[in-house]
Amino acid sequence: MSMDEEFDELTCAQHGKVYTTYVCEHLISDPVQKWHSDYPDAENHWPDAWCEACNAHYQAEGEWNEHNEDLVPINLLCHVCYEELRSASLARLTGADYDAWDNFVDACFKELQDKSGLLNQEFSLGSHQRYDWDQETGELVFSNDGVPAVIAKIDFIGSYSSKTNTWLWSWANFHLLEGMRVRVAAVRDYGESHDYPWLTTSKWEAEEGDAWDMAAVAAHVLQAKGVYRSPREGGAGFLLIREISRA
Ligand SMILES: [Zn+2]
Ligand SMILES: [Zn+2]
Repeated sequence: MSMDEEFDELTCAQHGKVYTTYVCEHLISDPVQKWHSDYPDAENHWPDAWCEACNAHYQAEGEWNEHNEDLVPINLLCHVCYEELRSASLARLTGADYDAWDNFVDACFKELQDKSGLLNQEFSLGSHQRYDWDQETGELVFSNDGVPAVIAKIDFIGSYSSKTNTWLWSWANFHLLEGMRVRVAAVRDYGESHDYPWLTTSKWEAEEGDAWDMAAVAAHVLQAKGVYRSPREGGAGFLLIREISRA
């Protein structure tokens, strides 16, 4: 079950030429359950995944080896199908567990509204001629007539695509410089400890309101000053304002 291979290609009946992923067959037949896997990294965007039952075999050995590999029926899966099934798995949270998540998100959103009100009062973020942000400096600069007025220290929370209707966490977006996404992994850790799969699943089907919710959760967990939405072709990036001051 090692995945040292480079992204091997295969042809999916639905999605055409795609990359190869490996998951246990139980996740394919019933994706709405907990997915066990490593997190994506630059070398492997779609890490091998297995279900709760298969995870018992993994736990028994503490690794995949000759004693447990044969017990787990592994299937090839197209990477787009992988993302779709994994996104569908979020529906596993139901009842009181879902309500707890929903209440948490509502509270974070209200907190962000209050923070945004304060930021606008103090820095009038909407009143400046332009804004620019830069990954190298990790700064978001509001300026007028070429003169910086307000400077914020930022992290990249994630991005919303209106083309694919998906949310993508920055920690799984390897186009970003590491310095822009490394702190946001704490939000994923928070999701891990509370079993909130929206925070631990790298990419999922979303509306823009969901993107705002994730930005609000990030602002809460990282105790940020606020959030800035940076629109772009086919969606928007959500920036976390860690610190902010007048230039
Ligand atoms: Zn399984
Ligand atoms: Zn497919």
